[in-house]
Amino acid sequence: MKNILVAVDTSDEAKQVLKSAIELGRCFEANPSLIHVVEPVVTESSYDLINTVPLDMDDIMVKHSEGFLANLKKDLAPDISSCVEVGSVKAEILRHARENSVDLIVVGSHGRHGLARLLGSTANALLHGAPCDVYVVRIKD
Ligand code: AMP
Repeated sequence: MKNILVAVDTSDEAKQVLKSAIELGRCFEANPSLIHVVEPVVTESSYDLINTVPLDMDDIMVKHSEGFLANLKKDLAPDISSCVEVGSVKAEILRHARENSVDLIVVGSHGRHGLARLLGSTANALLHGAPCDVYVVRIKD
């Protein structure tokens, strides 16, 4: 195993997910890298009114996310690579995994039950399309 792709959102739980991935990386002498996906604010071009808003929200979100990842890496793993993609969280993580010969995807999960589980979590979605193994970090609240 060489390449570990660590998917993080921009919440406090990202630190837990990255810490576990770093430990795995040490065990397997593999390189972790980070990915965060910004979901587009407006996907329908038919919203003419919204399209006239001068600020590009996607660009702002990407800049914010890049800052978040830089900060996240600072103490834990300053040398690892990171990227921010725009699109569907599941589709972008899986595309990145395929295109970069990723051996393991690391993702967090709250272990929700009931309705929340039925609606589907990111971890669940990734499990169904991943081209490689998926390691799920149980998030401690
Ligand atoms: P969720 O179950 O959707 O709350 O997400 C749990 C985990 O999915 C997070 O801890 C991350 O590992 C991953 N995740 C959620 N949102 C994103 C995102 N926008 N980009 C990358 N990974 C994400």
